[in-house]
Parts: sequence; structure tokens; C-alpha cells
Amino acid sequence: MRHLLAAGHRSVVIDSLVFGHRAAVPPGVPFYGADLADEATVRSVLEQERIDVVMHFAAFAYVGESVTHPLKYYFNNVVATLHLLRAMLDAGVRRIVFSSTCATYGIPATVPIVESMPQAPINPYGRSKYDVEGALRALQGTHDLRFACFRYFNAAGASEDGDLGEDHSPETHLIPLAIGAVLGRNPPLQVFGTDYPTPDGTCLRDYVHVDDLCRAHLAALPRLERPGTGLFYNLGTGRPTAVLEVLDAVGRLAGRPVPRAFGPRRAGDPPALYADATLARQDLGWEPRYRGIEPIIETAWRWHTRHPHGFAR
Ligand code: UDP
Repeated sequence: MRHLLAAGHRSVVIDSLVFGHRAAVPPGVPFYGADLADEATVRSVLEQERIDVVMHFAAFAYVGESVTHPLKYYFNNVVATLHLLRAMLDAGVRRIVFSSTCATYGIPATVPIVESMPQAPINPYGRSKYDVEGALRALQGTHDLRFACFRYFNAAGASEDGDLGEDHSPETHLIPLAIGAVLGRNPPLQVFGTDYPTPDGTCLRDYVHVDDLCRAHLAALPRLERPGTGLFYNLGTGRPTAVLEVLDAVGRLAGRPVPRAFGPRRAGDPPALYADATLARQDLGWEPRYRGIEPIIETAWRWHTRHPHGFAR
């Protein structure tokens, strides 16, 4: 939102606040508390606010939970998005930027991952995003829907000024949990699996800073002016980082090691996911500014240490 405003775009927010935070919406930005499945409300907001592009970030995103509660993910991530898409078409809105995920690739045959590789998600979360990609492709042909799908790798970090960051309940993500563990706010970090076919036996992921993700969204906007546009881009730094490397980086910032325990693999976790983001670089001129894990974690550290209770005052 900050990036959109800084670039001169008038913006409004629709959020059910099931996971979002009202305090994260900048002052003066119109806010509508609604679920995307509430199609009538969404349609009337789109019409009244004369929206011309939707950026759709809303979803449940816990891989493990998606394995145990698949219907929750299909309803919230797929069905609610179909309602949004119908509301958009009814309101005459033809442009959308969609937050997809590297989880749509499943266990890739080779890494780094390029967009043209087969997609075979291994968990319902990835499947739900993949299904939405399919709906967008279909509507591109039938309704001149123009879209950009960004397949995020591991979104991480916080705003540089330390004012906006992750505040999930429950928190399941590695970086906030590692910071919480070293600060004594939560139990020792459980390392999920040490027997993966990777250099240190832990999973490799590609952590990409949220501000870099935002910049890609802005860069895609002009592309959506063109009829027939349907774009798919990986967004990652291309650097694989092991779970233990993340813990080492957090430990260096804290000045003491992250308390940890070693446990079994988590269901639904592929061994290695990292991006080849050449396409986004070539097409959009997108270059991640945060290239190593430490500068990313530094921003998260600032947010978590300054906001021990997240967005709650
Ligand atoms: N992970 C871990 N312990 C945790 C949380 C995550 O070992 O308490 C690992 C997880 O198996 C994965 C990586 O850290 O390999 C990143 O997980 P996260 O949940 O942050 O993001 P995801 O990859 O699921 O999008």
C-alpha cells in the first residue's frame, strides 16, 4: 500500500481482518471490512470506488494446515477468489495482479525453478493457488481479463523503518519463530527435518524481501494496459538458504544462538525451492534489492524487537 501511494496511485483496501490488521492500513486510505466471498459487497466497492486494477493478496497460507484442513483452503483461496473474479467482471474491472506461489511447482525436477517447468503442487495450499491461475487463464480468453501472477518464493522481512512487519496468529513461519525463540518469547525453534537431500540436511528456500515483492507489483501495472496480457513470474532472489543458515543469521544478529530442537519433517514441505527470476528481470526490469538473508532478517529483527505485540498497541 505504501508503495502504491508513493507512486501516486489512489488505493482502497478490502480485508476480512481474519489475518490482516487494520493498523497496517495507512491513515486516509478507505478501508472496507469484507470477505471476498461477499460478492455483492465487493462488487459495490469496486463500482463505487471506480477501481481499475485489483491486487489480490488475500489467502490462507499455512502449508501444514492446508494438508490437514484442505476444504478450508479450497473454500477460502479458490471459491472466494472465484467470487472476487465474478464481482470484478460484473463491475467491469478487467485487470488483476495475483499472489501465487512457488508451492504451485510441487517438488521441482530441477532447481532453480523457471516458470515454464511443470506445476504439480504437493499440498492443498499450492493446489489452491494453481487452480486460481487456471481460472485466470480461462477468463483471459473469454472475458479479456488481463493478469499478472507472481509466484512468490518465501516472502520475508519487514519495512526498512521497522513499522510494518509480520504479525500472524498462530505464527508458523521460520524467521519470526527463530527471532521469537532467541528473544525468549516462544519455545525453542523446531527444525523440521534434517534428512533432506540438501547440503546440511535441512530444507532450502529462497527468502525474498516484501519490499522487493511490492516493487514487482508496481512494475507489472503498465503491462496490464495491453489487451490479452497474461503474465507469470517467479519472484525470488535465486539464492537457496538452508533452515540452519537462517538460524545462524538470526543468532549473529542477536549475539547468541537460536535455541533449537530437531524434529521430523513437516508434511507438504519440498526439499528445495529457489527461483530463476530471469523473466521478471527481463520483462519488468525487476531486481531484488535485498540479496542476502542477513539484510532481510535485519529488517524483520527491527520490527519484532520494536513491536513485541505486533500491531496490537
Ligand atoms: N521451518 C522449520 N521450523 C519451523 C518453521 C519452518 O524448520 O518452525 C522450515 C520449513 O520446514 C521450511 C522453511 O523452514 O523448510 C520455511 O518455512 P516457512 O513456514 O517459513 O515457509 P514456507 O516454506 O512453508 O512457505
